[in-house]
Amino acid sequence: MSGATDHVVVVGAGLGGLAAALHLAGAGRRVTIVEREPVPGGRAGRLDVGGYTFDTGPTVLTMPELIAEPLAAVGEELSDWMELTPLDPAYRAFYPDGSQLDVIADTVRMAAEISRVCGPREADGYLRFVDFARNLWDLERNDFIDRNLDSPRDLVNLGMLKLLGSGAMRRLQPKVNQFLKDPRTQRVFSFQAMYAGMSPHDALAIYAVIAYLDSVAGVYFPKGGIHAVPRGMAAAAEKHGVEIRYNTTVSRVETVNGRATAVITADGERIAADAFVLNPDLPVAYRDLLPDRPYRRRLRYSPSCVVLHVGSDRAYSKIAHHNIHFGRSWRGTFDEVIRRGELMTDPSLLVCNPSMDDPSAAPEGKQSYYILAPVPNLERGPLDWRGGLGDRYADQLLGTLEERGYIGFRDGVEVLRTITPADWADQGMAAGTPFAAAHNLMQTGPFRPHNLHPSIGNVVFAGSGTQPGVGVPMVLISGKLAAARITGSTA
Ligand SMILES: Cc1cc2nc3c(=O)[nH]c(=O)nc-3n(C[C@H](O)[C@H](O)[C@H](O)COP(=O)(O)OP(=O)(O)OC[C@H]3O[C@@H](n4cnc5c(N)ncnc54)[C@H](O)[C@@H]3O)c2cc1C
Repeated sequence: MSGATDHVVVVGAGLGGLAAALHLAGAGRRVTIVEREPVPGGRAGRLDVGGYTFDTGPTVLTMPELIAEPLAAVGEELSDWMELTPLDPAYRAFYPDGSQLDVIADTVRMAAEISRVCGPREADGYLRFVDFARNLWDLERNDFIDRNLDSPRDLVNLGMLKLLGSGAMRRLQPKVNQFLKDPRTQRVFSFQAMYAGMSPHDALAIYAVIAYLDSVAGVYFPKGGIHAVPRGMAAAAEKHGVEIRYNTTVSRVETVNGRATAVITADGERIAADAFVLNPDLPVAYRDLLPDRPYRRRLRYSPSCVVLHVGSDRAYSKIAHHNIHFGRSWRGTFDEVIRRGELMTDPSLLVCNPSMDDPSAAPEGKQSYYILAPVPNLERGPLDWRGGLGDRYADQLLGTLEERGYIGFRDGVEVLRTITPADWADQGMAAGTPFAAAHNLMQTGPFRPHNLHPSIGNVVFAGSGTQPGVGVPMVLISGKLAAARITGSTA
């Protein structure tokens, strides 16, 4: 970035904006964060209802070293700002034939678990899959993820040749099936493609790294819930001089002669700076904040989700903190949600029970549940969520849970909040999905929307809409990459 960069305004205190702010503060910049909400975290927010507290977004936290990185930029230690515990098991998978499989980060114990459920040959296949996925992560991390990529030419390197050689540019599901033969393990190590907005049948095998990151590198739970992560990052940023202006909505970026000069708030205040990081959803930042430039490229968006937040007087002894309930249908479910824009007829669901590890999430003797159901985004399936569909679908999901073993779930409900794609759209997420542009080939790496604005030279983007992509780990890296654009450091 040319010109002065002494004072940087970061719009949005999501995890991407906070990471950018910490890296910038660490590099000696004066930083002001302007955040619309009264709290940091954006999608990693918090909902308090009737004595229950719920994380509103991410629940599966992986790669804590990526949280440590921006804290280290200002000389802080992760353990001074949040208390993370590894979850064991990381997930519990429930299958329609009644069997269940614990996903355990420790590979030796996991091999034993797979051997118990699917037999010893499958356990061998699992160990070979782990070697493949670990090697993939090593190849991808430095050359493709943790780096600003301006053009496909940046991909031409030895790492790319090795990636091609490893079969990473083929489709994920057939690649996983090379190692794993049991449909249960095939599913539990490929469903993560959904996190990248893709069916495992369409996603590239490079996304086996997501399964590696949660199933092998491990899933963590912060004391106080995931929202403790942005809270800790924001507090550390403030300690190091970052000013955070909460309850302040930016309504536009002011530009003069092709350079941004200030942000103008909804109250008409003008906050001048030398450089700007925009953390709102990228297409929405283009549409609402930047002058005369809607984002021109047509993007394909990830599917969306409905989340039910349930406060309940029922506890279920068979479940773990994270539970995946697979329906019978597999390919058909992806087709319904992603291709046809329809609701799942045989749902696969994520059910979290955070109060199991954090009693403060529910009143004494009570439980909090978070149920996530993938649904089409508003472009693929413009369903009438505001017209009562949200309530009807919530009721249907409660019924599905009862069929899947949550006996008396409906009767135990004390608090229920249903979040639908219409709510995500109201919060400023393009196509009503919190999972941004899908990670198909043409929206990955140097083909993903760039973090540098094409003509306003002192505006950069951070967050899941830009490189490297969606999810807490990628968004934290996006903040580092945005800061590197401004400071000129190599990332
Ligand atoms: C239901 C759900 C489940 C998820 N599950 C997982 C998971 O298990 N694991 C995982 O890794 N990831 C998960 N994710 C994805 C992850 O949460 C996101 O990729 C990540 O948090 C996005 O961070 P961000 O910084 O890009 O954006 P955001 O968190 O959206 O931050 C943007 C910030 O900008 C602010 N803002 C917007 N407009 C303005 C404005 N005009 N003026 C001022 N401020 C503004 C917003 O208030 C917000 O704070 C999940 C997300 C959701 C919603």
